[in-house]
Amino acid sequence: MKVLRNLNIIIRPVNDRCNLNCKYCITKDRYSRDTMLRETLKIETFQKLINDIKDLHLQNVRFTWHGGEPLLMPNSFYKNVFALQSGLNGIEYTTTLQTNGTLMDEERLLFFKENGVAVGFSLDGCKYSHNSYRFPNQAQFEAVLDNIRLAKKLGVRFSIIMVAHEKNVRDVAELCDFIDELDPPNGFTINPLFLGEGKMAGLSLKQEEFSKFLFALYDNRKGRQVFPGSYIYAAEKGLNKAVPKLCFFSGRCANFVSMNGSGDMFSTCYENSSYYLGNINTTSLSELLKVHLVRHETKIDPQFKNKSIYREMGSDPSLVYFQGKGCTKRLLNGMDPYFRSYIELIEYVKKQSEKTKS
Ligand code: SF4
Repeated sequence: MKVLRNLNIIIRPVNDRCNLNCKYCITKDRYSRDTMLRETLKIETFQKLINDIKDLHLQNVRFTWHGGEPLLMPNSFYKNVFALQSGLNGIEYTTTLQTNGTLMDEERLLFFKENGVAVGFSLDGCKYSHNSYRFPNQAQFEAVLDNIRLAKKLGVRFSIIMVAHEKNVRDVAELCDFIDELDPPNGFTINPLFLGEGKMAGLSLKQEEFSKFLFALYDNRKGRQVFPGSYIYAAEKGLNKAVPKLCFFSGRCANFVSMNGSGDMFSTCYENSSYYLGNINTTSLSELLKVHLVRHETKIDPQFKNKSIYREMGSDPSLVYFQGKGCTKRLLNGMDPYFRSYIELIEYVKKQSEKTKS
């Protein structure tokens, strides 16, 4: 069985709780009274996680604080978190906090900077119209933009994560100029809006539209900086015979687990009862990870078993780093509906770079 050396832990200290009410939020369906009342993460639970990590032979741990909105927890909580993390002698670790940016301010930015935390801001573009699924008014959008500019001024390491949807998908040149202006030190990425089969499904970005968007993004970014984490960077990395950073391109989904405020752990980067592993308060991380790895090899995603970008592209040895099977977070009829777009992007980047060489 595979032994994990690198582990990404997505921690959701306030579960689904959030101070915004984005129209396209994927956790909205789960927004019941129950989840709102669920307890937030206790420092003792995080301490148990840290103690268990010390018992494992991990080389690298990446902690990502996610939501809901993780800034609903006060700085005093994160102060205790960072003190516990600093006891991980001999294990490299990084910390990222993914936020909607509305509760950020200078004090918090400086606090995260001092503690070596990278901040990921979610924002869908340079205009309010790009962000109208997200913010109730222009003022809130501008306040977040100001916070991002302040992060830049203060030298905070940050990235931007966008969602591509009908409000921004045709404004590729504008989005690229905006990213150039912000110049996020930790890069940016744009994921397609996908809302499954529920009543909001009509808002999901169509696969063909996402492919077109990626091609336009490639054409616009040619000659400019290509940021780590982006789909284009992943395509170029794999074509240059290196492991792409995006898990659904590289097939490294098994390196991710998640934990909610109660200490429940799941075998993917998000909470899903069918991927439940157990609770960190009552079971050791070592036991939970054993179950996690067996699940990934046997049970999880049976529909993906023999699937990979590499195989789908004819098992060409030059494409061997594309072992991704698509993402289990976006499943439609047992498939990642954008799987075709990843292949089309790789083919496009390959063709365009061959043209440039000749
Ligand atoms: S569920 Fe998707 S995004 Fe999450 S780790 Fe797996 S492939 Fe990556």
